[in-house]
Amino acid sequence: MGAPYLNMIDPFGRTVSYLRVSVTDRCDFRCTYCMAENMTFLPRKDLLTLEELDRLCTVFIEKGVRKLRLTGGEPLVRKNILSLIRNLGRHLKTGALDELTLTTNGSQLGRFAGELAEAGIRRINVSLDTLDPEKFRAITRWGRFDQVMNGLAAAQRAGIDVKINMVALKGINDEELIPMLRWCGEQGFDLTYIETMPMGEIDTSRGDRFLSLADVRKHIETAFTLEETDYRTGGPARYCTVRESGRRVGFISPLSHNFCESCNRVRLTCTGTLYMCLGQEDAADLRAPLRASESNELLHRAIDAAIARKPRGHDFAVERLDKAAVQRHMSVTGG
Ligand code: SAM
Ligand code: SF4
Repeated sequence: MGAPYLNMIDPFGRTVSYLRVSVTDRCDFRCTYCMAENMTFLPRKDLLTLEELDRLCTVFIEKGVRKLRLTGGEPLVRKNILSLIRNLGRHLKTGALDELTLTTNGSQLGRFAGELAEAGIRRINVSLDTLDPEKFRAITRWGRFDQVMNGLAAAQRAGIDVKINMVALKGINDEELIPMLRWCGEQGFDLTYIETMPMGEIDTSRGDRFLSLADVRKHIETAFTLEETDYRTGGPARYCTVRESGRRVGFISPLSHNFCESCNRVRLTCTGTLYMCLGQEDAADLRAPLRASESNELLHRAIDAAIARKPRGHDFAVERLDKAAVQRHMSVTGG
């Protein structure tokens, strides 16, 4: 057996430098496009401990990950999540990691924004699909709009840059696509529009709600001037600068455009399952090698074997939106 590889390069020559970790599949919201109202969550005994998550993330950093995003479920509802974030912050101090960040629904930011900033978090993504409190309630089922607004204000006070994620939903928030961009400009937030993706069964139709971001962009351009940039995050988003506000606007359009050729990321779940692609079922179990020995040798090898299987791209298609392309919900793999 040769030595494990230090860099993660997949069969298509793509270097993996970005790890997204779903630290919990649980959430205090039940967004209609993401979850069914009655969800069965993973038994707590199956979860990796925070120490195990730290060890796994650290091995990925040793293998060349430069950017780490915690997501979920709602990452900030996992008990003691701040201790994991603080510990991972050590890799920012040594320079091993360029960025530690998080995607959140914002409900807990009022409590945590200050500590997140202290731990080294400079930017966060906050999901917000509407500025109308009643609609917000209808989309998130359990969310409280004022709590998220307070959370956003706390993040701003703490000096954390915010990017808003907005899932474009036909018949629900299409009239707010332009007002949201205007509001983000006023607040000093970037904004990314997202196409709904067929992940996990839900109790409504996704096909009925699908809005192509190609159309969304045309609509936005009736009110704003979008200037092309070469800013890339290695993900499925394409970014422009809004001339009127100077902020960035992104389009995550895995269905109407496929940008898999530049994919630089893999996704780890809270049970230690590694998904090499958001839109494919193939996965590698890292919990067994993690627990089998105190040395990280087995883990390195398991990760190398997984990266060698990273597929070319996803199989999402607009015509098949009502049938989940993958059985797991976005909250399991982390959006
Ligand atoms: N709870 C956190 C939040 O809402 O930001 C983090 C996890 S959530 C799964 C991450 C992102 O995925 C959110 O921006 C959410 O809107 C998006 N999302 C969830 N389900 C989706 C789906 N089926 N299609 C497209 N985006 C989805
Ligand atoms: Fe929770 Fe985020 Fe899914 Fe909404 S999108 S239910 S906030 S995990």
